[in-house]
Amino acid sequence: LWQACLDALQRELPSQQYNMWVRPLQVQTVNNDLILLAPNRFVLDWVRDKYADRINELLIEFAGQNHPTLKMEVGSKSAAPIANPKLELGNKTAPAQNNHHSYSSNQFSNQGLNFASAGNVSKIGQTPPTNLKSNLRENYTFDNFVEGKSNQLARAAATQVADNPGTAFNPLFLYGSTGLGKTHLMHAVGNEIRMRNPDAKVVYMHSERFVQDMVKAIQTNSIEEWKRHYRSVDALLIDDIQFFAGKERSQEEFFHTFNALLEGNHQVILTSDRYPKEIEGVEERLKSRFGWGLTIIIEPPELETRVAILMKKAQESNFDLPHEVAFFIAKRLRSNVRDLEGALNRVIANANFTGKAVTIDFAKDALRDMLALQEKLVTIDNIQKTVAEYYKIKLADMSSKSRSRSVARPRQIAMALAKELTNHSLPEIGAAFGGRDHTTVLHACRKVVELREKNHDIKEDFSNLVRTLSS
Ligand code: ADP
Ligand code: MG
Repeated sequence: LWQACLDALQRELPSQQYNMWVRPLQVQTVNNDLILLAPNRFVLDWVRDKYADRINELLIEFAGQNHPTLKMEVGSKSAAPIANPKLELGNKTAPAQNNHHSYSSNQFSNQGLNFASAGNVSKIGQTPPTNLKSNLRENYTFDNFVEGKSNQLARAAATQVADNPGTAFNPLFLYGSTGLGKTHLMHAVGNEIRMRNPDAKVVYMHSERFVQDMVKAIQTNSIEEWKRHYRSVDALLIDDIQFFAGKERSQEEFFHTFNALLEGNHQVILTSDRYPKEIEGVEERLKSRFGWGLTIIIEPPELETRVAILMKKAQESNFDLPHEVAFFIAKRLRSNVRDLEGALNRVIANANFTGKAVTIDFAKDALRDMLALQEKLVTIDNIQKTVAEYYKIKLADMSSKSRSRSVARPRQIAMALAKELTNHSLPEIGAAFGGRDHTTVLHACRKVVELREKNHDIKEDFSNLVRTLSS
């Protein structure tokens, strides 16, 4: 019965959501209760909130009158045989847990031992274990990471990994264009793991640094040592792995390290600026392994989130940022949180320097060059061309009367992009699309929001287009 529900959920939900929330659930039947066991409180609340109603419906659909009562708890079946091996995923070694703060296994104490012996070996040898520095940036935490629709899944997955390192999702692969918080989230996981277990060995490395280190280790004949160090960590965080492209030897070493860590249930977190399969110059076997755990995109934040980020950063700097100024900045800088931060810092510096009141005009003035750049970049013309090219339709169809879907869909998407990425009003946008009415534009915007939620391809298309247009 549960399997039937699972199959249905797998069909209905985007695979990311399914893998993240439904897959880790285990099931137990007691009398006529169907008890779902969630690995932690977080998953429990989420599933209860978002999916419980649907699961109930499915139970009724499949079992009719005598359907079991759905119950949910935090916990896991520690006893060996598990009815459906699929359900074990992500929870292989976790013993029964009643509280999500407890560590999921004895893993860390074992690691401690491993590490101690690695340390001894190196005393006998010549090189001290220097490259085990954690490199974690303490100011990148979950607390100061602003959540929005665009990063919600990524953040949730990261929290889960911090809750159950090595067993929740391994590897965790975060991708998305630059300046959207991948590095931040990665450090947040590392910091959280260390906060809960100060003995945990967490190592963050940019992939370029990883390559340099390896080359040095080869030159100084200490590659074996070097490998041992990496294999002894509890969590390895490698940033921007697209830089591995074309570096065959590094890929080879990384592949082995990666496998060793995964086998021992040590957490691996990777980031990249694109989807793993799209990274050129990286071996196929490596790419396919990157997808073994959970792969999640971080998208450019929506307006509300951009405003929230600005307000939060201003507050952290003890700067009194008027809401309408935050809104003004957020409305114009759309693609990148790093740029938002840069703009805010510029406004703060200018305000401190001139002592003037922070108004929209003041911000306009302080950010003149930054804003000019952005305005120039995205025009309705540009959007129409890019979308037409993307869908291989004629540019003229952006303004034509044709209603065939192969043309109408891209046109709607282009209108929605124009609304999102430019400052033109609905009537202006309508005019640019063959003199359409503003209600047509509004309808298109709503339709696209709906489609992006329901249809994975359109969601991908849309973010590809945003990325192309705003980079
Ligand atoms: P990426 O690694 O994706 O290029 P970073 O993690 O370096 O991006 O983020 C760029 C800057 O933006 C960092 O200073 C980071 O703290 C900040 N940032 C990104 N996303 C958020 C967010 N959701 N909340 C708060 N700060 C963010
Ligand atoms: Mg980064």
